[in-house]
Amino acid sequence: MVNVLWREGWLKPLLTESLPSEKCAKCNNEFKELDFVTSCEFCQAGIFHENCCNTHIIEEHQDLLETKMADHREKRLHSYQ
Ligand SMILES: [Zn+2]
Ligand SMILES: [Zn+2]
Repeated sequence: MVNVLWREGWLKPLLTESLPSEKCAKCNNEFKELDFVTSCEFCQAGIFHENCCNTHIIEEHQDLLETKMADHREKRLHSYQ
């Protein structure tokens, strides 16, 4: 059994002009037409390519991620009891 991370949401078209930065906070490349972008839910680092954000979270927030998974497991236990 493995843990997967379900990212809920919908595609929200944005212009890069409305973002705080036109570059990815991880790889520093400018966003291109139809790139999937997202922000980190654990910090205010900025906007990332979706793939870069995943890497960022695993590299920078592994501890928070594990806390979150542990919380979730606890909640699930409670709802079944
Ligand atoms: Zn990037
Ligand atoms: Zn972060």
